[in-house]
Amino acid sequence: MNEKPDNNKQKNLGALLLGLVLLLAFNALILPNLGAPAMKDADYSYFLEQVDEGNVQKVEITDSTVNFTTDDEQVYSAVRIDDPDLVERLSKDGNIEFSGVSTQPSTLQTFLFAWVLPIVIMVIVWNIIFKSLGKRMGGLGNAMSFGKSNAKIYVKAQTGKTFDDVAGQDEAKEALKEIVDFLHTPEKYAEIGADLPKGALLVGPPGTGKTLLAQAVAGEAEVPFFSISGSEFVEMFVGMGAAKVRDLFSQAAEKAPCIVFIDEIDTIGKKRDGNISGNDEREQTLNQLLTEMDGFDGKKGVVILAATNRPESLDPALLRPGRFDRRIPAELPDLAGREAILRVHAKKVRLSEDIDFNAIARATAGASGAELANIVNEAALRAVRNGRSAVDQSDLEESVEVVIAGYQRKNAVISRKEKEIIAYHEIGHALVAAMQKDSAPVHKITIIPRTSGALGYTMQVDEGEKFLMTKEEALAKLATLTGGRSAEELIFNTCTSGASNDIEQATKLARAMVTRYGMSETFDMLALETVSNKYLGGDSSLACSPETAARIDDEVNSIVKSAHAKAVKILSDNIEKLHELAHYLLDKETITGEEFMAILNS
Ligand code: ADP
Ligand code: MG
Ligand code: ZN
Repeated sequence: MNEKPDNNKQKNLGALLLGLVLLLAFNALILPNLGAPAMKDADYSYFLEQVDEGNVQKVEITDSTVNFTTDDEQVYSAVRIDDPDLVERLSKDGNIEFSGVSTQPSTLQTFLFAWVLPIVIMVIVWNIIFKSLGKRMGGLGNAMSFGKSNAKIYVKAQTGKTFDDVAGQDEAKEALKEIVDFLHTPEKYAEIGADLPKGALLVGPPGTGKTLLAQAVAGEAEVPFFSISGSEFVEMFVGMGAAKVRDLFSQAAEKAPCIVFIDEIDTIGKKRDGNISGNDEREQTLNQLLTEMDGFDGKKGVVILAATNRPESLDPALLRPGRFDRRIPAELPDLAGREAILRVHAKKVRLSEDIDFNAIARATAGASGAELANIVNEAALRAVRNGRSAVDQSDLEESVEVVIAGYQRKNAVISRKEKEIIAYHEIGHALVAAMQKDSAPVHKITIIPRTSGALGYTMQVDEGEKFLMTKEEALAKLATLTGGRSAEELIFNTCTSGASNDIEQATKLARAMVTRYGMSETFDMLALETVSNKYLGGDSSLACSPETAARIDDEVNSIVKSAHAKAVKILSDNIEKLHELAHYLLDKETITGEEFMAILNS
């Protein structure tokens, strides 16, 4: 908005200069020739002939030509020849009017062409280049407008999202509703003497609805809502980010009361380190942000919301009270939350009557809101693909598997022998699971390959929500994970590469038992590993001596080993059932938990 006047001024100046130069060029070059009659070329000899015959009225001698007008008003131009007798010849006649004309440009013209024109051309070219560059690179264009923030301003309901679009996340909604209320009726709070919170930080794993929550606040708040992403502050030139922060806050101050939302704030809010070679630009931007947040008068009514999935990487100065006073967690949804999210998104698609959302929610433990939204959409796509006009339960169930394991690879060719191994492998998992009391029930077993690379899998679904894992459950899970490989060994006397994913999961679990859960024989309640960014995959790093690390490896190995032995024992005790179930699966390719239990109990 503010950049228009500057730009216009520059444009006007350029246009003015260009006009001036064109006018002068017109005056100097074209105008003198306009009134003159058309000239004919002639030889010098013709000129002399005409002079001698007395037909010439007027002669103009320039540096390179001789222009002459004959009695019949025709003007000729002849190339001038070095002729010392010319003047004498012309004056002899007495009737001829003759003069010399200089074609040398005047000093003014020289000045204009040598100095002004090149400068004007350069200014024009410069403008064109930067305009097109700016368009292509975005950043440079902004840089040339000297640090204007490009925050989008939403006024009420322009995002089209409200709190009704956000399911689950009740605590987060509660906290945000209070902030919205604060902005609507500040008197209520001022009467008691409460200060407006300056900022709130939304933290949580990706896809849990942080951006969605902020949009819902924008939809609910009847105040202007500025939205900008942290990465938009990162600029080509040092100092630009800081200038943008300043601009953003001065705009916000004008519009107060209002809300400023900075998404992915970790891009600018990372911890400053003592490193001399540190990123100057980022630090300046962060410093500016800190200064601006301090500079705000709490009563003015500017609330800053920010979202991040890496809260541990944020600078402590940013997190202290008075800046982001509040931390609003947006965690992965629980069972009820998942069901609610499924229902919110299912409103947008046509459903057949008997949909059991609870069953889908139970099968998707650990899924984020974004994944659940995706499951509903996949189900709708599948319904269309199958020529149905409404989504049914099977669509939803299949799309859960699509999101977990990818699409079915219908035309993958797998030999009979390999199919057999896969069937025994999967039944191995299922049987070990079913034979232990601390294990979740088997929901589905399939040997249809998936695009994720899985050749088959066994789905276990807990009855209710689980928040804790006991040591017994962890050991039962380990035995189940090793059950696939155990079946291969027991029946085919070999092992295959198909167990790689099981091995990975088993190792991870056993390791966590030793290093983080204190569930091993050797170590007591020791934190041998620390988890860094817990919302993004949870990388962990060892916090112990190399000797201890070696003992951890031994301990992990022995835990997995005994789980493996237990699985082999369970399977060899039930080898008839293993054969029966594996052949049934080989035949059907996909069986449900009920079918499985029926055969097992028969
Ligand atoms: P992030 O936390 O990574 O910012 P988003 O807010 O961008 O996640 O969420 C992505 C999408 O996931 C949303 O547009 C919405 O469709 C869906 N979603 C996530 N959480 C929820 C929720 N609690 N209720 C409804 N939809 C949700
Ligand atoms: Mg987001
Ligand atoms: Zn397996």
